Amino acid sequence: MTAAFLGIPAPPGVGQLRGGRPFPAAARDALADSQLRRNLGHATGVIRTKRAAAVGELDDWEQLRLAGEAIKRATMARLDDHLVRLEAEVTARGGTVHWARDAHEANAIVTGLVQATGATELVKVKSMATQEIGLNAALADAGITAHETDLAELIIQLGDDVPSHILVPAIHRNRAEIRELFLREMPGVDPSLTAEPRRLAMAARAHLRRTFLRARVAVSGANFGVAETGSLVVVESEGNGRMCLTLPETLITVMGIEKVVPSWRDLEVFLQLLPRSSTGERMNPYTSTWTGVTPGDGPQAFHLVLLDNGRTAALGDAVGRDALHCIRCSACLNVCPVYERTGGHAYGSVYPGPIGAVLSPQLTGIHSGSDDNASLPYASSLCGACYDVCPVRIDIPSLLVRLRTAHVDAARDRPLPTAEALTMAAAAWVMSSPTRFAAAETASRLGRLAGRATGRLSSLPPPLSAWTSSRDAPRPPEETFRQWWSRTRGGPAHPAGQANPPPPGGFAGPAGSAEPRGSAGPAGPAGSAGPAGSAGPAGSA
Ligand code: SF4
Repeated sequence: MTAAFLGIPAPPGVGQLRGGRPFPAAARDALADSQLRRNLGHATGVIRTKRAAAVGELDDWEQLRLAGEAIKRATMARLDDHLVRLEAEVTARGGTVHWARDAHEANAIVTGLVQATGATELVKVKSMATQEIGLNAALADAGITAHETDLAELIIQLGDDVPSHILVPAIHRNRAEIRELFLREMPGVDPSLTAEPRRLAMAARAHLRRTFLRARVAVSGANFGVAETGSLVVVESEGNGRMCLTLPETLITVMGIEKVVPSWRDLEVFLQLLPRSSTGERMNPYTSTWTGVTPGDGPQAFHLVLLDNGRTAALGDAVGRDALHCIRCSACLNVCPVYERTGGHAYGSVYPGPIGAVLSPQLTGIHSGSDDNASLPYASSLCGACYDVCPVRIDIPSLLVRLRTAHVDAARDRPLPTAEALTMAAAAWVMSSPTRFAAAETASRLGRLAGRATGRLSSLPPPLSAWTSSRDAPRPPEETFRQWWSRTRGGPAHPAGQANPPPPGGFAGPAGSAEPRGSAGPAGPAGSAGPAGSAGPAGSA
C-alpha cells in the first residue's frame, strides 16, 4: 500500500453499498408487506433459537468473545504489516496478489484476469465482497456470465433480486415462492417439482453440477486470510464452495483487507465463534483452506485481489474502525427488531441490519446530511441486542450514536438550519430559563386534551410531527414536576437559578438544581419524562 491509497471512501455509482432511497422511505414500503414480515419473523426466530442453544453449550463463550475482540483490535493496529506479510507468503507459494483501491479497480482486475483465460463464464462461491463491488454486473458488461452456486445466491440470481441478509440472502423468500421461481427460471427443471426443501435442493444440485463440470474459472471471497502462511479460508454449508475452489483451472479470490488474521492460532478462535454465531452449528460442514498453487492439485493459477473500497477510511477513525472487526456472522441481524420488521432491502447496502447501519456509512462516508447512507445510523432502537450477541463484541449502539453525531455535525455547515437544529435551539432556549421552562410545562398540559381518548399523542404539529409520524408521544401527566414537588415537599420547586436543598435520598431536581446530568431520581408515575439525561420523577419535563 502507498499513502495515496489511504482514506478514500467507496466511490458512488458502482456496486451495492448505497440504496436508491433513504432508509425511512424504503422501510415504510417493507413494513407494508405482510408476507415479507411473516417470512422474516419465522426465519430470524428459528436462527436465533439455534444460535442460543449452540452458544449455551460453551462455558467459555465470553472468554472466546474477548479473545476474538482482542485479536481483531491488535490486527487492525498493525494491518499494514499483516497485509504485506500475506502478500509475500501468497507470492512465495505461487499465487499473485493484486491491490484494488475501490470497486472500479477490483472489477477491472477480475474482468481482465478472466478475459486472459479466454473464458466467457465462471462459477462463484457466495461472497459479500463481490456483491459489494457489483462484480457480476461488471463481468456481464464484458460478456462474461457469472453463475452463483450457493443455493440462496442462486435463488437471488434467478429472481433478478438482491440479497437481503448476510448469511441467508434469500431470507425474504419462502418455499412456495422459490418453487415458482425454479419452475419459471431454471432450465430443465422437473415440472412436478414440489416446495419440499429436499426436492428444491435436489433441483438446484442437478442444475449446478453441469455448470461446475464445465467451468474453467472460479471467483470466491474469503472469510479469513492467514498472514503467516498466505492461506485463504472459506467456510460454507453446502459443498458448492469446495467444488468451486478445487475443480476450475483458475481461482480468483476477492478479499476485503480487514479479513486478514496474523496466524493459525488466531484463526482457531474465529472458527469457534463464527459457526455458532451464524448458523448455530458447532462447526461448519465445509471449511476449505488453500495456499498458493499446488502442482497437479486444484487450480493451477491463483489470484488474490485485496480490496480497500473505503476500509482504510474507516480504519482512520480510532473508534469507528471497530466495525471492521465484523466476521459477517449475521447474529446481529437476527436479533434486531428493526431488521426483523423491514428486512435487508430497506438498508440499500449489501450489508443490512445493525452492522450495515455502521459499516456502510463508514465505507461510503457521511460528509453531508444528504449523503446516501446518512439515514442508516438512525435505523436502530439502540436496544443493545446486537452488542450482546456479537461474537467479536463490536459495540454497535455506541458506533451508531457516534455516526449520528457525525451526521448532525455535517448538517451544521448548511446555509439553512434543519428543522431538527431549530427544534433543539428552541428547546435549549426554553430549558435554560426556569421561568420559560415552567411556562412550557404548563403549556404542555394542553396536550392532555389531545390525548385523552388513547392516553397517547399520535399527531403533533410541525416540527414535532417528525416524532409522531413514526412514534406516539406519551400524554402529559396530570401534575407537573413543580406541582408534585410543591405538594410533596411543601414549597416551590426552586427559586430561579438556585439549587434545591437535597431531599431525603439525595436527589435534587432538574433545571437549576445542583444534581449533575445523567443522575437517576426516584421513580415517578408512568409517562414522566425527565430533563436531558436524567430519569427524574413524575411529570418532570
Ligand atoms: S457485527 Fe458482530 S454480530 Fe453482526 S455480523 Fe458482524 S460479527 Fe456478526
